[in-house]
Amino acid sequence: MSTKDSFRAPKGTADLLGSAAAGWDALQQTARRVFARYGYAPVYTPVFEHTEVFARGIGEATDVVGKEMYTFTDRAGRSLTLRPENTAGVVRAAIQAHLTDNGQTAKLFYAGPMFRYERPQKGRQRQFYQLGAEALGFQAPAADAEMVLMLRDFYLTLGLTETRGSASLAASPDNGNLVLLLNTMGCAQCRPAWRDAMAGYIRAHADGLCQECQRRADTNPLRALDCKNPACVDIMAGAPKLADYLCDDCREHFAQVRALLDAAGVVYQLDPTLVRGLDYYTRTVFEFQVADGLGSQNAVGGGGRYDGLFEQLGGSPTPGIGFAIGAERTLLALEAAGIILSDTNRTAVYVACADADLRDTAFLLTTALRAAGVSVVCDLQDKSLKSQFKAADKAGAGHVVIIGADEDARGGVTLRDMQTKTELFVPRDELLAALTAGDSEN
Ligand code: AMP
Repeated sequence: MSTKDSFRAPKGTADLLGSAAAGWDALQQTARRVFARYGYAPVYTPVFEHTEVFARGIGEATDVVGKEMYTFTDRAGRSLTLRPENTAGVVRAAIQAHLTDNGQTAKLFYAGPMFRYERPQKGRQRQFYQLGAEALGFQAPAADAEMVLMLRDFYLTLGLTETRGSASLAASPDNGNLVLLLNTMGCAQCRPAWRDAMAGYIRAHADGLCQECQRRADTNPLRALDCKNPACVDIMAGAPKLADYLCDDCREHFAQVRALLDAAGVVYQLDPTLVRGLDYYTRTVFEFQVADGLGSQNAVGGGGRYDGLFEQLGGSPTPGIGFAIGAERTLLALEAAGIILSDTNRTAVYVACADADLRDTAFLLTTALRAAGVSVVCDLQDKSLKSQFKAADKAGAGHVVIIGADEDARGGVTLRDMQTKTELFVPRDELLAALTAGDSEN
């Protein structure tokens, strides 16, 4: 690698600048607001864990563990891995902190970067950002239904809309842009028989399948349902269906989840091929896909139940269910739908100084406005008044407060509304009220 390349962001990573940074911020704010309504509290786990947490939690035979992990040995010889997802880390943390001991429950949400060594393309990166939630200790189907409702609530709050009626992803603009897929993957009782039947089916049809799917007969036969190769898709359409193997408990659980979603008016499609890439899923799995703007990387978020994960990570049997949202893909979907997230970090006011003798006055006025809670900046570089106006425009300020010798002599400022371009004189002691007027209407 040339020195020039070493000073660029590594392949598959991106600097979040400008609208990308504001977008990630806005997603986090929306998530915090929506998830709080469902009783979720934040959790932050380390960006790296002992490799074992992911190898055991996600499953050795998965693509994520087999091919995509950033694993390294630290100076003391420990094998550590940058987290490829956050569910295993959150469950590890919950076990360590005894959050779910004695039948207790916990509802936790997270936001942060994840790392997978994948082939980068639009909507697929090596460092990407996820928002996610985990409901730990909940067994009943109502928890599954609430999880789906919360994820749907998040997307609808952002302005995306549900696709109604059509099984095809070719949603028209007036028929929404979100499709919810729902499936059950059975449990430790009923899945093994289905898994064996799938392995047998793959072996019997090996000739027509891609090499990867042929290998899957021995490693992870269910993943063959996920293969995008057209020949494999055709053959796998005739594969054994889990529905024929489900135990009574799993069948009943899924029926109740669906009944609750139906009653809540959620639009979804049952998709028996939805298996998702991580081994820990049991029973309910779900995924939101978007029709436009994302090509093959159209899954914006998804999740499912993971009733065996606690034991895999050394805890006592504890049910759990969660989801993860892909931030980049969600932002791309919003862009494709023409939805602009409001930038709550915007500067509201710019204090411009029209007289060099009044710079300190402008600086102190800015400080006082900030103390009163206004988002306000002033010039720190002795710029001309014209340049200060340009800076105010660039900052997106809604108002400019102009301090000049005249205004100062009269004990006030000129307040310019940047949208209407109108100006009026405001006495100093009425400025705060003038700037915050109308705030409560928003
Ligand atoms: P998963 O953890 O694989 O269930 O992924 C959950 C969501 O994260 C997906 O639906 C995607 O939106 C997003 N995602 C997963 N992998 C990547 C990646 N390499 N780059 C960008 N987003 C991703």
